[in-house]
Amino acid sequence: MKPIPISKPARTMLVCAAPHQSGKCSACGKSIVWVFTSRYARHPLDAGFVVLEEFETTVEINPRLQRIQSLLRVSTADSHFATCPFADRFKKKRREL
Ligand SMILES: [Zn+2]
Repeated sequence: MKPIPISKPARTMLVCAAPHQSGKCSACGKSIVWVFTSRYARHPLDAGFVVLEEFETTVEINPRLQRIQSLLRVSTADSHFATCPFADRFKKKRREL
């Protein structure tokens, strides 16, 4: 029998270092930052999210975002989908973090 961890370690995701756009969650009103993920999707992070690691890159990730020079690794715990009390409303759009 496997030991049960007390708290599940947070997974991470990669997001573009720029551009970022500040806003407020339409459901709970909390301050969020809209970023682009490495899969081209717009994704809300909680304002004040922690950057775990930064990668320099020359890969053209998204033709619409021509000058991406680095990616940030952030915890999925800082995704607003993880912290919003109304996250159920986003489930249709939430496919991959
Ligand atoms: Zn919210």
